[in-house]
Amino acid sequence: MEVQILGAHLAEVKGARLTSILIDNSLVVDAGGLTSALSLPEQKKIETVLLTHHHFDHTRDLVTLAANNGYYWRKQLVVYAPRYTLDIVTEGLLSGKLYTNFLEYPSKEKPTVILEAIEPYSRKTIVGYEVLAVPVKHSTPTVGYQITSSDGKSLFYTGDTTVGVSECWQHISPELLITEVAGPDKYADWLNKAGHLCPKFLKEELIQFRRLNGYLPRVIIVHIGNPYEQEIKEEVAQVARELEADISLGYEDMKITL
Ligand SMILES: [Zn+2]
Ligand SMILES: [Zn+2]
Repeated sequence: MEVQILGAHLAEVKGARLTSILIDNSLVVDAGGLTSALSLPEQKKIETVLLTHHHFDHTRDLVTLAANNGYYWRKQLVVYAPRYTLDIVTEGLLSGKLYTNFLEYPSKEKPTVILEAIEPYSRKTIVGYEVLAVPVKHSTPTVGYQITSSDGKSLFYTGDTTVGVSECWQHISPELLITEVAGPDKYADWLNKAGHLCPKFLKEELIQFRRLNGYLPRVIIVHIGNPYEQEIKEEVAQVARELEADISLGYEDMKITL
């Protein structure tokens, strides 16, 4: 399994993109900084998008990806998410109010975007991967995804989450964990209220992971609050030392082979 971090940041600025992860060149999880990371031939290989939640920084490039699909090569994209998320994304981005109605363009019979609701806790085969959606704590309904390839490699991406994400550890056993740290420990209270993690929260959640599952997977951090990146890096390195774990910050175009 080839994992590519397309966007690893909380804010879009020159050199940093919003959160989006590409698996084996064809399956995308979250569509923050997606289209600006890939050439048209690369975008053409994408068949499937999974969404963790409806927040704009995770769904925005559904519109630009759908536009390129609909206008240039007329291939269909299948978007999976819980029903709640799909309804908001439809209303906000895809229904035609903001731009083209990609649920009916170029035709109602063969639209650019097909929406498929995903049920939490039920394992589903999607383009050859076993996908398990597990609800996580955030400020709005959110699921993390465990994605397992046919040769048994697996990752879990939490999406945006905060204290209490450990409630989902009992359902998963990935070899790679991709999660978020939106700010440094000095903003812990604010981050918790906003539904995010800081390094000291991450540490507590990872201790729970080890207690429940008997090991710690490699951990990659995304959704990094740009102005605090150096502080986050230092605090995460301290957590890694204390837990004797492999935890590092993700970055744009980072590739990980499982
Ligand atoms: Zn969010
Ligand atoms: Zn976010």
